[in-house]
Amino acid sequence: MYSKTLFSMCMKKAHIISIGNELLIGDTINTNAAHIGQRLTHLGITTEQIFTIPDDFSIIKKRISRSLEQADVTIVTGGLGPTHDDITKKVVAEIFDSKMVSNELVLNHIKKIFSDRGYTLSPSNIEQAQVPEVCTVLFNKQGTAPGMWFEKLGHYLAVLPGVPYEMKHLMETGVEPKLLSIYKGLNIRVTDYLKTAGIPESTLSDLIGNLDEYTNNGVGVAYLPNPGGVTMRLSAEGATKEMAEQKLVKLRKMVFDKSGDFIFARQKDKTLAEVVGSLLTEKNLTIATAESCTGGMLSNEITDVPGSSGYLLGGIVAYANSAKSQLLGIDEKLIEEFGAVSKPVALAMAKNAAKKFGADIGVSTTGIAGPGGGSDDKPVGTVWIGFFINGENFALKTVFTNNRLVNKQRTVMVALETLRRYLLGIKTYPYELKPHYS
Ligand code: ATP
Ligand code: MG
Repeated sequence: MYSKTLFSMCMKKAHIISIGNELLIGDTINTNAAHIGQRLTHLGITTEQIFTIPDDFSIIKKRISRSLEQADVTIVTGGLGPTHDDITKKVVAEIFDSKMVSNELVLNHIKKIFSDRGYTLSPSNIEQAQVPEVCTVLFNKQGTAPGMWFEKLGHYLAVLPGVPYEMKHLMETGVEPKLLSIYKGLNIRVTDYLKTAGIPESTLSDLIGNLDEYTNNGVGVAYLPNPGGVTMRLSAEGATKEMAEQKLVKLRKMVFDKSGDFIFARQKDKTLAEVVGSLLTEKNLTIATAESCTGGMLSNEITDVPGSSGYLLGGIVAYANSAKSQLLGIDEKLIEEFGAVSKPVALAMAKNAAKKFGADIGVSTTGIAGPGGGSDDKPVGTVWIGFFINGENFALKTVFTNNRLVNKQRTVMVALETLRRYLLGIKTYPYELKPHYS
């Protein structure tokens, strides 16, 4: 209890305010707030609220004034440009009751940008060098609108341009160093991303179970599901990076002990296709694909990986039944008797793909991607995924969703995850599917 209280006392709270009508009507996705939230989290500052508000003087004024009282740190983006709807600067000048002054460094920078490009400087461009006298300018090398830093009774306010790359630049060069030096004693937060595939979020969290023993003092696990699998975000805090990492190591070990078979990567941007590619390279195996419902998506993902030419020999997209017989040599009678979406066809497609290309492994996909075309015994989302590995020919049957694109993505994920587990000798199949042999 004592440590929890101490923890919340030390905790620094932030508000993020995103200004712009385009954000409210849905024209622009608020990626700025996401980025700032990530950066603050990394610094050990807790983002308590994110506000998205219109280009409206009184709303902006009210919001910033309140956040200045409620949060330790407030970060505002948007509305700093030279156009008439860009009013953020006027609002903060009024809040701080400060007159505007021209900043020479910024003015020279703007003049140089314009002369380099051969443009004439307009009065509104010159006005961009005007800043409230009480602020510290966060010099914006990437654009014309300067960032601004204010302080009021131990509360800090950063006002940044809305253009994402300018905002990121000012966060990195202006805001983050300031926050680091102000909150020297603040906990550092470290995170780790463990990517899983072929296991539902609920099964995964049941498997990992109760985390009470670990989750005090800013240690936690979050489950982030998407069509390609569930990513677990582990995080830990500590007075130093080393202390935070020590906690993270302990937590990671526990998570690996319980769910290691399902974790295919420890890096956030690593793909299943990369992991399968490394395994194929390591084992010196080649692969070929025969795709129907995924329309080439499987070979596309495999070829997104540099060096895939070392193991992918080729793929055939056989969409029509005639293509399945002509290009892959599937017996027409088989399709007539069982249908194109069936175990025998999936098995034959995988085997024939391997044979046609002379590959060690063949993988096939055939399914009803939807939204139409389903029947009682083969509802929309029914997919057969065939494998030919080590002379073993088996197929998995799954029933996904009514969404065409999601069905394609999940088919590719199950195909790759099955390969990964098979190549590692893991004895389970994605989503506990059962292999069907011929
Ligand atoms: P500028 O000096 O370029 O005028 P500004 O501070 O006035 O900058 P805005 O005019 O509000 O910024 O936005 C500039 C661009 O940045 C627009 O294309 C806008 O859609 C984008 N943008 C603004 N806010 C965000 C946000 N929160 N997330 C993502 N993009 C944003
Ligand atoms: Mg704007």
